[in-house]
Amino acid sequence: MIKFQRVNRVGEYWKRKYGDKTYKLIFKGNFTCPNIDGTLSDQGCIYCNMRSLEPLIDNSNIEEHIKYLENRNNAKLFYAFFQDYSSTYPIHSIKNKYDYLKEIYTNSIDNEKIVGISVSTRPDCIDNKILDILSELNKDVIIELGLQTTNVNDITWMNRGHANDRFIESVELIKSYGFEVVTHMILGLPEENDNTIIANAKFLNDLKIHGIKFHQLMVLKNTKLENLYNNSEINILSIEEYFRRVSLFLSYLNKDIVVHRLYGDAPKKDLIAPKWCINKTGTQDKLFNYLEEHNICQGCNII
Ligand code: SF4
Repeated sequence: MIKFQRVNRVGEYWKRKYGDKTYKLIFKGNFTCPNIDGTLSDQGCIYCNMRSLEPLIDNSNIEEHIKYLENRNNAKLFYAFFQDYSSTYPIHSIKNKYDYLKEIYTNSIDNEKIVGISVSTRPDCIDNKILDILSELNKDVIIELGLQTTNVNDITWMNRGHANDRFIESVELIKSYGFEVVTHMILGLPEENDNTIIANAKFLNDLKIHGIKFHQLMVLKNTKLENLYNNSEINILSIEEYFRRVSLFLSYLNKDIVVHRLYGDAPKKDLIAPKWCINKTGTQDKLFNYLEEHNICQGCNII
């Protein structure tokens, strides 16, 4: 087996689906989050530092950004991608949130090379009206939802502010529109062990989600996690242990689920730990070598 085929990666999935190399165009919006603005909490998730997400472009400049990605990455087709804060939850000074979302999403797909739109948000920031707006765009739609883990104690520890039930409800609602659901999961949480990793994989298989993004628990500057890290109150996974855990997860993950990310990264200036994710390509190569050496591929432990 070719080593990169051990995982159902998004690049190949999009190539099969669209026939060409497809990339994400990152857009900016005036969004916030109910876990920051005081609706649920004003503390945010323990690891959240939204400043580390820097939009690559000014939204008005789609053509220029497309040209840049065509030249740099040989990209041919694109997804409009909204990832900052909860990208279905505008700031409160915007009077009509649905009009705003309709305008910003519609403007983002104003180019024939854009095949779809991807919106990253929380399970409690999705409703029918938002999904109707996305449906009317007549493009492929991906909704990225943070879950991170199904372990209730770790969800509370992270101050996520939502329960598994809400996640399940949102997934079912999104799927009823024929949209894809991509779920964010974090490895390296305090109560995590091999059993919880396997339980998380089975939970996502049963829900028949379409895609997954893996992240290691990462310490960014100006977060609550930074204080815990500085006080030696948390452990951060070594690269070897992260590889072991993500490989275990993959081995129980249904082969049809598309892997959009194998580990997280962050700008050097914001990242405190772990440092091993800074070298993106090097880390990816090492991970695929690990899978090869241990003869692990996605779904290989599903009976
Ligand atoms: S849900 Fe997202 S934006 Fe909101 S606090 Fe958590 S990580 Fe930050």
